[in-house]
Amino acid sequence: MEFESVIGLEIHAQLKTKSKIFCGCSTEFGASPNTHTCQVCLGMPGVLPVLNKKVVEYSIKMGLATDSTINTFNQFARKNYFYPDLPKGYQTSQFDLPLAEFGKVEIEVNGRKKNIGITRMHMEEDAGKLIHDAREPESYVDLNRTGTPLLEIVSEPDMRSPDEACAYLKKLHAILKYLDICDGNMQEGSFRCDANISLRPVGQVELGTRTELKNMNSFKNVQAALEYEVRRQRDILLDGGIVTQQALRWDADRNRPEPMRGKEEAHDYRYFPCPDLVPVVINEEWIEEIRETLPELPDARKERFITEHQLPEYDAALLTGSRELADFFEAAVECGGKPKRFPTG
Ligand code: ADP
Ligand code: ZN
Ligand code: MG
Repeated sequence: MEFESVIGLEIHAQLKTKSKIFCGCSTEFGASPNTHTCQVCLGMPGVLPVLNKKVVEYSIKMGLATDSTINTFNQFARKNYFYPDLPKGYQTSQFDLPLAEFGKVEIEVNGRKKNIGITRMHMEEDAGKLIHDAREPESYVDLNRTGTPLLEIVSEPDMRSPDEACAYLKKLHAILKYLDICDGNMQEGSFRCDANISLRPVGQVELGTRTELKNMNSFKNVQAALEYEVRRQRDILLDGGIVTQQALRWDADRNRPEPMRGKEEAHDYRYFPCPDLVPVVINEEWIEEIRETLPELPDARKERFITEHQLPEYDAALLTGSRELADFFEAAVECGGKPKRFPTG
């Protein structure tokens, strides 16, 4: 039997604001533990959050850059779960009224272009960080990251191979960098994703049971983990077995996924609108103002490199895949460099 893989990604992008989403604490990475905290992000009783306007502006930018519909009325909701790195006992996120919906981006794999749908995009706060040092009996918690703004971008299950998933991930990474709203640093966790994957017999419409690879933070790991899951799930299905829906953690040292325990299994978050924050009402004029500030995006820049610098499509795609590389290339051309040196004679 022939199987087809179906992949959908949930991406978390840290927005590059100076301060956190609901308080004035710095978002700077690498400070001494718990020095960038205050009553609000520590979740003290009785404090009130104040929404950072830059977070909304940056999120709208990403919505516009991906052809999404911006919901001019959207709302924060509480996602309730208890975890030591989340002192409030809930994460302030968005639920039924997210900032943006119905977007899309184009990817290209092996010369084939394809649109990937974006289901929704919502603003939320990041949790803190637990530090488990094997040499010490205790665990530590660092709440500097608590309250750092995140944009969560949920895709439709539109990808059909690990290559397509990687191309989509790279495209979103590039767009965020072009917009200059996320530093994209994957080692520091500024850009990470949960990859959902299932298999189904070719021709079947209904989706198969999925597994979810949590918190992937390198393109290489996403590719390897998805390829592993394709093989593992295919073997199970060919054997007549059923795939268990579960959250997995990719063990990059041993090159295999491990089942996760804990909060990921319980999925009863009891969402409700956050009573501490009024709904976010965005006026059309502001959206248009933000639209005016959009830079040239990777796809448009690629087309321009082809026409203006007479580059082959492949070269143009490679050079525009990262904003830094594209800027460097254009600066070199401006200094008199030849866009492409063709073999002579
Ligand atoms: P949850 O909130 O439990 O993570 P969602 O239904 O919001 O689940 O889906 C999360 C992601 O998983 C989305 O990107 C979606 O496209 C993808 N997804 C959902 N069902 C499947 C499936 N059967 N196979 C592959 N991907 C899936
Ligand atoms: Zn704070
Ligand atoms: Mg999920």
